[in-house]
Amino acid sequence: MALELPPLPYDRTALAPHISERTLEFHHGKHHAAYVTNGNNLIKDTPLADKPIEEIILAAAGDASKAGIFNNAAQVWNHTFFWNCMRPGGGGTPSGEVARRIDQAFGSYDKFAEAFKQAAVTQFGSGWAWLVQDGGELKIVKTANADLPLAHGQKALLTVDVWEHAYYLDYQNRRPDFVQSFLDNLVNWDFVQQNLEKSA
Ligand code: FE
Repeated sequence: MALELPPLPYDRTALAPHISERTLEFHHGKHHAAYVTNGNNLIKDTPLADKPIEEIILAAAGDASKAGIFNNAAQVWNHTFFWNCMRPGGGGTPSGEVARRIDQAFGSYDKFAEAFKQAAVTQFGSGWAWLVQDGGELKIVKTANADLPLAHGQKALLTVDVWEHAYYLDYQNRRPDFVQSFLDNLVNWDFVQQNLEKSA
């Protein structure tokens, strides 16, 4: 099957106390897993069954008859990407090329962090906040539900999941506290750097 559930890139206890073992148990083990199962059921015995995930997403984007495929495949991609956006002992200011690009685009890390947090907090309902590269320029965008930069010709560099399932067990309704903790303690800037270097 084309859609897969990769193991978390760290132990389920590794992001505590910022994200608890219980949250990761549900978020990765139940939510992410369900998108994989549901997506695979929808593409089974269709021409998309063995295609790479990005192809599945782009083939279904904007096609109302394939909304279920888009939503599940995009959520599989988003979650796999999100896990890699974090690491134990991460967060804070980046260095090197990433720092230079962020300063260039936003003026300073603090201004970037403020704008990223604002996007995450103001996303109404379920969705994602992203740092993307769009035509060579770094931008902050937010997307609703399963939507993602790939469907808008943008390259994803960093994301935070702001669906309630991402933070409710640990932060209840305090989404701003979750996003602040993500920025201060979890961001894997090495992964952002790797994404920046990718050609596509
Ligand atoms: Fe999620």
